[in-house]
Amino acid sequence: MSAKILDGKVLSAKIKEQVKIEVEELKKKGIGVGLAVVIVGGDPASRIYVNSKKKACELTGIESFEYTLDESVTEEELLKVISTLNNDNRINGILVQLPLPSHINEEKVIMAIDPKKDVDCFHPENVGRLMIGNPVVLPCTPAGVMELIKESGVSISGKDCVVIGRSNIVGKPQALLLLAENGTVTVCHSRTKNIKEVCKRADILVSAVGRAGFVTADMIKEGAVVIDVGINRLENKKVVGDVDFEEVSKIASAITPVPGGVGPMTIAMLMKNTVTAAKVYNAK
Ligand code: NAP
Repeated sequence: MSAKILDGKVLSAKIKEQVKIEVEELKKKGIGVGLAVVIVGGDPASRIYVNSKKKACELTGIESFEYTLDESVTEEELLKVISTLNNDNRINGILVQLPLPSHINEEKVIMAIDPKKDVDCFHPENVGRLMIGNPVVLPCTPAGVMELIKESGVSISGKDCVVIGRSNIVGKPQALLLLAENGTVTVCHSRTKNIKEVCKRADILVSAVGRAGFVTADMIKEGAVVIDVGINRLENKKVVGDVDFEEVSKIASAITPVPGGVGPMTIAMLMKNTVTAAKVYNAK
């Protein structure tokens, strides 16, 4: 079998096109859509992510506001910036690029963002909404994964879904989204025993580990849908996922490439969340 490639570039372009239409419709009603991106320090990877978010804003007509703060900024100063953004009605979404320098408490910063502007879906109020099945915005990367699974044509209901990784950003919310679609969900982590056998049961496998070559062909059920969230930079600077793409694509029915799979979807879902926040919270 040669797997269908789930192309995140093509799918994310479609989603951004839809966002653009919604932004135009809101503008006609006199509602502007704005996203503030806060970046602390000069980490090159963070810079790349922030630039691609700005580019997506340009493409969709969302006004972007960038706040670049020095690495030495104090927690208090950063919290002040967030408070200003919370009160700025041109801004519907606030994104603080993580990771933050170690002298700043990330949890405190996330808690300071108005939940109505929390387009990353990191605030406990939004995480709680997701948990009880009443979300306004969805966590960007897991939501992007769900769109890619839809694209495979495989329905999730009743299927064995295995998520490798249990972070707050990917693994845990991914499990909740799959559960909400009636998947039978197993979450694996570093203490999981017999991980190969567990993964081999999966009709749908989502890997979010952050280790190149972690998912090998002997872990894959014939015909499974394999979604690779991992982003790993090799010594030769090549970017790869967690999955041995070449071998696994001979067994899976559908697979995401890295790069060009989940990555572009994350940004498209961020744009979607920003327009959703503008619609829901500006509704008169
Ligand atoms: P993370 O917080 O480091 O979590 C990694 C997870 O993998 C943890 O739950 C860890 O288990 C588990 N793990 C580590 N070694 C394992 C092993 N040997 N067996 C089983 N599980 C193991 O990372 P993250 O933030 O979730 O990100 C995961 C990957 O996705 C990274 O490569 C990241 O760059 C990428 N990512 C991509 C996007 C995108 O847009 N494409 C977005 C976010 C993240 P424990 O909990 O037991 O330690």
